[in-house]
Amino acid sequence: MRETEPIYVTQPSLPPLEEFTPYLEKIWANKILTNGGPFHQQLEQALCDYLGVKHLALFTNGTIALVTALQALRITGEVITTPYSFVATAHSLLWNGIKPVFVDVDPNTLNMNPAKIEAAITAQTTAIMPVHCYGHPCDVDAIQKIADNYNLKVIYDAAHAFGVQCHCGSVLNHGDLSVLSFHATKVFNTFEGGAIVCPDAKTKLRIDQLKNFGFVDETTVVAPGINGKMSEINAAFGMLQLNHIDAVLARRKEIDATYRELLKGVKGVRCLQDAGEAIANYSYFPILVEADYPLSRDGLYQKFKDHGIFARRYFYPLITDFPMYRGLPSAQRDNLPVATAASKKVMCLPIYPSLNNEDQRRIAALIAK
Ligand SMILES: *Cc1c(COP(=O)(O)O)cnc(C)c1O
Repeated sequence: MRETEPIYVTQPSLPPLEEFTPYLEKIWANKILTNGGPFHQQLEQALCDYLGVKHLALFTNGTIALVTALQALRITGEVITTPYSFVATAHSLLWNGIKPVFVDVDPNTLNMNPAKIEAAITAQTTAIMPVHCYGHPCDVDAIQKIADNYNLKVIYDAAHAFGVQCHCGSVLNHGDLSVLSFHATKVFNTFEGGAIVCPDAKTKLRIDQLKNFGFVDETTVVAPGINGKMSEINAAFGMLQLNHIDAVLARRKEIDATYRELLKGVKGVRCLQDAGEAIANYSYFPILVEADYPLSRDGLYQKFKDHGIFARRYFYPLITDFPMYRGLPSAQRDNLPVATAASKKVMCLPIYPSLNNEDQRRIAALIAK
């Protein structure tokens, strides 16, 4: 049944190899491989400028950055979060000995539903950890209002939100901290990598200490920090990627618009709302396979596979279905009806800059047929 090469949900953006050579030559010449070398410093500054944020600390990956963000703000007890995310969101809480408390999502955005937060707050709650799912900004104002009323911190898992802007500039400036991932599958990648965005130099200094074992000077260690440093190779690759990011985002925008056009009349298939006024990054293209579509979601997923197209069911299973979470009272399905329904209906279609028009049309035709 396979017509051509397999198509995956994403293809990492890789600039031409020869463009990377001069960066490697520089690393070999100055012989600094890690520990905040010149490319690390350059990339921190370049990302602050590009993203429109004040301070940013690079990390070896997004998960270690999430773990460190919680440690930096000394979060303990219970944290309110979403079941509709990649498992690393909740894992970062367990790594800090924190109890996750799951609340349901909004049916339109699949982001944490702010109306569900207050009922989940207890005397142990210290923070909220929402996710800008698929890069759609959370209702940051509603979340901040609740956080202010109850004196809670807000740490955004912004792994999907590189370059996203909402009504008042970069979405990464909301909350106390935002965490990015630069994993190979993300819109902007450094092979592996991540970052914490923070509003002030003092917090950035603490984060920088925590990602370097907790060292504050040559002989003083103030906390059980981790090794979360990004290497010079990854940072140099990030500098190269930044030269191409605008073209990458423009091509993703085209693909997003084409899918919306091609799928417009298809009964039983719903696209999530488009970005509207916001500046999006088109990092994912989720569709919801509704009850009036001739196939189930898994039926369509299998049909794709039979044609060599490997879509992904993000996010299925829900985090709350995994064994380390499913026993929690907040993980019960009747607490999470919207997330439970979405996870049974969702499928993310291939979207990446080198996806050609012909393949995209073939994908849309498979859905429409
Ligand atoms: C990718 C991702 C992470 C983890 O980032 P890594 O860099 O792979 O460690 C965390 N949260 C979400 C929502 C993600 O998509």
